[in-house]
Amino acid sequence: MGKNLTKRSEDYSKWYNELVVKADLAENSAVRGCMVIKPYGYAIWEKMQAELDKKFKETGHQNAYFPLFVPKSLFEAEEKNAEGFAKECAVVTHYRLKTNPDDPSKLIVDPDAKLEEELVVRPTSEAIIWNTYKGWIQSYRDLPILVNQWANVVRWEMRTRLFLRTAEFLWQEGHTAHETKQEAIAETAQMNDIYADFVENFMAIPVIKGRKTESERFAGAVDTYCIEALMQDGKALQAGTSHFLGQNFAKAFDVKFTSKEGKQDYVWATSWGVSTRLMGALIMTHSDDQGLVLPPNLAPIQVVIVPIYKGEEQLELISRVALEMKAALGQKGVSVKYDDRDTMRPGAKFAQYELQGVPLRIAIGPKDLEKGTVELARRDTLSKTFVAKDDVVDTVTDLLQEIQNNLHQKATEFRDTHITEVNNLDEFKEVLENKGGFISAHWDGTAETEQKIKELTKATIRCIPFDFVAENGSCVYTGNPSKTRVLFAKAY
Ligand code: AMP
Repeated sequence: MGKNLTKRSEDYSKWYNELVVKADLAENSAVRGCMVIKPYGYAIWEKMQAELDKKFKETGHQNAYFPLFVPKSLFEAEEKNAEGFAKECAVVTHYRLKTNPDDPSKLIVDPDAKLEEELVVRPTSEAIIWNTYKGWIQSYRDLPILVNQWANVVRWEMRTRLFLRTAEFLWQEGHTAHETKQEAIAETAQMNDIYADFVENFMAIPVIKGRKTESERFAGAVDTYCIEALMQDGKALQAGTSHFLGQNFAKAFDVKFTSKEGKQDYVWATSWGVSTRLMGALIMTHSDDQGLVLPPNLAPIQVVIVPIYKGEEQLELISRVALEMKAALGQKGVSVKYDDRDTMRPGAKFAQYELQGVPLRIAIGPKDLEKGTVELARRDTLSKTFVAKDDVVDTVTDLLQEIQNNLHQKATEFRDTHITEVNNLDEFKEVLENKGGFISAHWDGTAETEQKIKELTKATIRCIPFDFVAENGSCVYTGNPSKTRVLFAKAY
């Protein structure tokens, strides 16, 4: 099966699309730009959700749910946010269909069922949530509000890609309300750090933390923090964002509170989100020409056991060993699948699990029974060893950790060797063309220059990294003075 996959070096984009479908993660649907997430893909997403949800709750957040529809008058209340999303909004105008009088087999929109006010399908929920918070907040005692919602949103994207950019996507969006500016900024930073920690340690994807430039900032935000990852084809991917919204939404929805000192002030806000795009990041960071490679922390099946047998009798003996092993591994919290289907040959099973990124495969044949061993294969390195039956549990638990670390290390090495400092526009273009990755360059801080560079090279400023030290230099485009380098890249 893996052999049928287009090679990354031949056509990276085709490889990605094929892999998503063949590994049974997702497929295109009858709705333009919208995907069907299949059970195997959804199981990975659920693992992401569970870990993130735990982290949100550990830091005091609670889940809630708000409506899918936003009345247009609420949507337009925060002007910048409305303007930023206007071009991507799906809008509901009617609430009923009726039989077409000219063709009774068809339905038409009932012109008598026009909504008094159009409803925007949420592209993000600040408007509906801040309109709700108005009723929840009167005094400092009502603050902070630390709420998260797991939901779907719709942004009518023109160019869509499975997981990476879809018209409807799944995400979580946190929306918090605070007494002070400092507290809101601290929350923005905390959530960006939580995303970074999750993506690095759970997904084994190294990220760079930083802030967005004004032109890449979330519409309606005062400041946008982000984590940026690098894919194997040298393109960057925005993996998560955390926004400091200032008092913009509080002012738009008139959300004030009485402080301890009895003064009235507008509430301070943040919002933060990660989406099913993370599935795309996962695939594009670790996978290879054989198929998906999953970090053990996110693998729905961490170990698969495949029996190699002739006849019922052999299968029975092997199954006894396999099921014992499965139980012992299960006790250690390892998720194991024993695949004793007799409708598929072992070789085909191997190929399927390779394609689906199962981190470890155990094969047990009649010879192994005699010798008291099993064959253990790693998906990340494609290497095989024989292990004594009694050592399997310890070896597997150690290896799962090693694979998790190895994937992170490999991705970090790739990322680190793909951050290139350049000092003029020629170098900039040359590196972008021939090597890709992040380009660390001086920029004069203006939106015009950023736009010009984008037009010339298709590269955008991914972020101004938090850990870049001040350094005097001159802008690669205008030559004007600059105080720090920023990271450019072509991005998904
Ligand atoms: P934003 O609200 O624009 O800050 O986006 C929140 C998160 O959703 C970010 O991690 C984005 O990268 C991601 N995202 C934005 N648009 C899409 C899309 N069309 N499909 C999937 N994920 C998206």
